[in-house]
Amino acid sequence: MTIEITLLGTGSPLPDPNRAGPSTLVRAGGRAYLFDAGRGVGLRLAAAAQPWSTLSAVLLTHLHSDHITDLNDAVTGRWITSLAPNPLPVLGPVGTQRVVDGILAMLEPDIGYRIAHHEDLTEGPVVQVTESAGGVVLVDEEADVRILGAATDHRPVEPTLGYRIEHGGHAVVIGGDGVPCAGLDELCAGADAYVQTVLRADLVSQVPLQRFLDTMDYHSTPEQAGEVAQRGGVGTLVLTHQVPTPAPGTEDEWIARAKAGFDGEVVFGDDLTVVSIGDAPAP
Ligand SMILES: [Zn+2]
Ligand SMILES: [Zn+2]
Repeated sequence: MTIEITLLGTGSPLPDPNRAGPSTLVRAGGRAYLFDAGRGVGLRLAAAAQPWSTLSAVLLTHLHSDHITDLNDAVTGRWITSLAPNPLPVLGPVGTQRVVDGILAMLEPDIGYRIAHHEDLTEGPVVQVTESAGGVVLVDEEADVRILGAATDHRPVEPTLGYRIEHGGHAVVIGGDGVPCAGLDELCAGADAYVQTVLRADLVSQVPLQRFLDTMDYHSTPEQAGEVAQRGGVGTLVLTHQVPTPAPGTEDEWIARAKAGFDGEVVFGDDLTVVSIGDAPAP
């Protein structure tokens, strides 16, 4: 019984040649769940050998553009690469339906072209949206997967969700953006791994740009992520969506900061970093 986490995109909102936008793939029980769909997620899914048509669901932590900018690619990719109707389940906070409606409106000309061109395509993409405020958001008994959500604190961005994926007695948490809060503590309790987006306050505070300084109050620092992991007794903390973009060779600084108050393992995430939880996969 294994849960496999693949960081598809670890970038911040600023384009980076080596980091796609925030997005994480979690595989468990033969299922594949995509958390957020940032810039370039389709390229990274291809690298992870996970076609759009095989995703079990897309789950959004929040509706900030950097986390959803390529959701349209998921909608179109799913639709045109599935040879039979294959609705795309999308779960997210309140507001998700409005975003999906907007994406479908934006895609209207394309949908028309393709239906006119391909005889076997008789309808446009179907997206099944479930908006949630938390609790049990997905159960797949056959795969022994349960996903819980909880409100996180990324204010003034509201509402936002973190997720906990449970499978075979193991649990993985996707924290999304935000600062430590009761919801994160709830999700992290006893988790094997906790994936958290992080911002180095020591570096951002030196940038003389108010618009950049503004981002400090609603992101976790590596130190705060470590404290949450410690409180929850988490095994492995995974740092992603690093702000500012880490300078080469500084990975150990990020890890040391996260370890300041955390006894467990810390993984500094790059695009396509894989963390496996549970039994080693069969040879
Ligand atoms: Zn955000
Ligand atoms: Zn973000």
